[in-house]
Amino acid sequence: MLIKSSSIRKEMRLLTDVHCHLTAPELEGKLRDIIRDSLNSGLKIIVTSGLGYDDCLKALRISDYRLVFPSLGVAPYQLEGYEKVLDLIEKERNRIAAVGEVGLDYWRGEREKWEMQKSVFEEFIELAKTLDLPIVVHSRSAGKYAIEILLKHRVDRVIMHAFDGKAVYASEAADKGFMFSIPPSIARSPQKQKLVKKLPLENLLLESDAPVLAPNPGEVNYPKNVRISAEWISRLKKVPLEKVVEKTYTSAVEILGLKV
Ligand SMILES: [Zn+2]
Repeated sequence: MLIKSSSIRKEMRLLTDVHCHLTAPELEGKLRDIIRDSLNSGLKIIVTSGLGYDDCLKALRISDYRLVFPSLGVAPYQLEGYEKVLDLIEKERNRIAAVGEVGLDYWRGEREKWEMQKSVFEEFIELAKTLDLPIVVHSRSAGKYAIEILLKHRVDRVIMHAFDGKAVYASEAADKGFMFSIPPSIARSPQKQKLVKKLPLENLLLESDAPVLAPNPGEVNYPKNVRISAEWISRLKKVPLEKVVEKTYTSAVEILGLKV
């Protein structure tokens, strides 16, 4: 019997993208195609993250709550107007899947503003705790410090996205229940490959971070590429692909508290 090449097995129809930016200028005007491709590729959940007030409003506007869910945050290196984002999160609490991305960026942020980054991060952490929402954390060249702050505040629903720090810090955080979402750039990142080898499957999630972190440098990334993250996890952990897809799906539903 012939099997249609477009048919995907049921277990593979549980792909999740816990972090991307569907409102990014690179994806402007492509939303319908992206949604269609994502559905055809077996995606079940996409969390699109707003960065700053205007982008957060857009994220809310494009969310359909069937496939696309919003999360609201601010880039740590561009904090102007962050108070409005805090207010918006409070106001829209029942319409959002997570707080974030928020966090620390010591790579792009000027050193004089690192203290400011920390205190704003702490405000978002406290709000996520008060509202009982998970928090998606950006931590570029600052993984160790971001984890320290999160542990100090005793946050229990954390998604460390595209973590670029040492696997040993990640492993300590995973022991405390932190989750780590793995982008398709794992294909070209020995650091991400090491991270996946070190962490248990129970602490891993899939993300695209579209339009960035594509498997090949310089390419525009799309949510459907989370499949590449899943394939790498499967290969590195020697676990069947279906199992990776299923486990990351149940973990995503659980941490995001989605009713699916
Ligand atoms: Zn991002």
